[in-house]
Amino acid sequence: MSTDPAIELPFYYGSISRSDAEQHLKLAGMDDGLFLLRQCLRSLGGYVLSVVWNLEFHHYPIEKQLNGTYCIAGGKPHCGPAELCEFYSKDPDGLVCVLRKPCLRSPDTPIKPGVFDNLRENMLREYVKQTWNLEGEAMEQAIISQAPQLEKLIATTAHEKMGWYHGKINRQEGERRLYSGVQPDGKFLIRDKEVSGTFALSMMYGKTVYHYQILQDKSGKYFMPEGTKFDTIWQLVEYLRMKADGLVTVLGEACLNGKPDEKKPAPPATRRQNGYSPPPKALALPMDCDGFNPYHNPNEVRKFNIKRSQLLIDEVELGSGNFGCVKKGVFKTESGQVDVAIKVLKSENENLVKEEMMREAEIMHQLDNPYIVRMLGLCNAESLMLVMEMASAGPLHKFLSTNKNTVTVENIVELMHQVSLGMKYLEEKNFVHRDLAARNVLLVSQKFAKISDFGLSKALGADDNYYKARSSGKWPLKWYAPECIKFYKFSSKSDVWSFGVTMWEAFSYGGKPYKKMKGTDVTRYIDEGNRLECPPACPEKMYTLMMECWTYKYEDRPDFKKVEESMRSYHYSLSNKAKAEEAAAAAKPVK
Ligand code: AMP
Repeated sequence: MSTDPAIELPFYYGSISRSDAEQHLKLAGMDDGLFLLRQCLRSLGGYVLSVVWNLEFHHYPIEKQLNGTYCIAGGKPHCGPAELCEFYSKDPDGLVCVLRKPCLRSPDTPIKPGVFDNLRENMLREYVKQTWNLEGEAMEQAIISQAPQLEKLIATTAHEKMGWYHGKINRQEGERRLYSGVQPDGKFLIRDKEVSGTFALSMMYGKTVYHYQILQDKSGKYFMPEGTKFDTIWQLVEYLRMKADGLVTVLGEACLNGKPDEKKPAPPATRRQNGYSPPPKALALPMDCDGFNPYHNPNEVRKFNIKRSQLLIDEVELGSGNFGCVKKGVFKTESGQVDVAIKVLKSENENLVKEEMMREAEIMHQLDNPYIVRMLGLCNAESLMLVMEMASAGPLHKFLSTNKNTVTVENIVELMHQVSLGMKYLEEKNFVHRDLAARNVLLVSQKFAKISDFGLSKALGADDNYYKARSSGKWPLKWYAPECIKFYKFSSKSDVWSFGVTMWEAFSYGGKPYKKMKGTDVTRYIDEGNRLECPPACPEKMYTLMMECWTYKYEDRPDFKKVEESMRSYHYSLSNKAKAEEAAAAAKPVK
């Protein structure tokens, strides 16, 4: 979610009025240079700096520019509100005085959320719930992992779900709808203008219908002539409900289009309803496939035992291991068919490996996260079979090495953020994976990764924070942290080390880590303080995170909570940068 960059500032009060700001400054003593920061309602994303000088108040609006910088009219641009205040504390640069003393919020004065902070959040939730039929944890994960993409989607399509949006109707039809039924002042609707493809607002006032054109600037923002600009139509509508901003009156009751409106959301019946059609495959969001939430009916699929008659097994092999092979198949359930991957145990080594496979199934059965391959059940027939959801685009390293030219660094960041979300989930549930590597990250699509292969995984006891192996085995040494190799100790922190190596594989488009070395040489190499080098295409921030994952002492290594935070903030920052660049390109005059 786009968090408010001023939230950490102790002199930031959020969305308070001018008179409340003056009250706080009065209570704090009215010294010269006393100041506070508040949210600006007139310009979205902007602030107001309120300063005392000579027992008088001065209020300076701070605008958020298209390129993401902040500035006071006529002043220098700054990369954030904190940097701006820091600058004006040294140089008045046009203000009445320098900022001398912050007016600090008292502990019982929380930051007041702006009306759009809550609205955007609720809108996002409602949208995800209705469009993909997601709820609970799956919905939260969808929102965290896809916030930038969702915000963009909402900005362009959310109004279609609103009761006040009437689609493509002409002015006369708009009037007819407004005149039917009661005619209070402020009753309104939004319609698509037939010819220009822009929007119009039609509203009732004094039993007469007025029509206004909604303008759009080059960066796509919506506004009334001379009015405040908004990213979305629905934000503009919410704003016009509070301020007339040039209209004859503020917006009142919505003239409903007969479809469900925001006050009475429709119960989600089927997926992808309400006019949302999934984008082409390469652009599709993870939620556009059934794998995000494969349970049409939660009680139905999460059964441990699957009947042989419910399975169709294809001859196509997806992969193999020493246990046997993984085959493509279809799982028939009461509400339809699901594509599945079926791990089939080789019959000749059944007893040896059967137990291992049962242990893997036991672990997988306890996990339920969109970024972890789900086990749908076990089937004991001609051989023991573990039925999993299908990740048809295959292992990450192979996908990246064969699609080098089409996969962007942003795409890799997004995928690795998803892996960090899955790993954070494992950490919270006290499971250690012990074999995290690019070969065990499977792709459902180019934009959707899932962690797989729980053959080595362990559930830790409630009071344990590591698992101690009795002896070493056939271990992926190049992915293992020093404490695994030296003391056989495995924890979420050692998974963090492996995450770093997985990141390295991803950013080197499926390269082999420590290419020419043997596993045992790698241990010495690490002990001597060496680490893998930064892959050529890898952003500096991502390499810094990898290096943190390779902190020698596990006590000093970040956990997945921290790793996910870093991945998230970098993922969101890339999306914001792309948005700003798009806006700047759109704003450039065409020669
Ligand atoms: P594993 O032993 O679990 O690593 O599986 C061996 C190979 O089978 C993997 O490298 C994949 O190519 C394939 N595979 C395993 N699970 C799946 C799945 N859920 N969907 C698609 N392919 C899979």
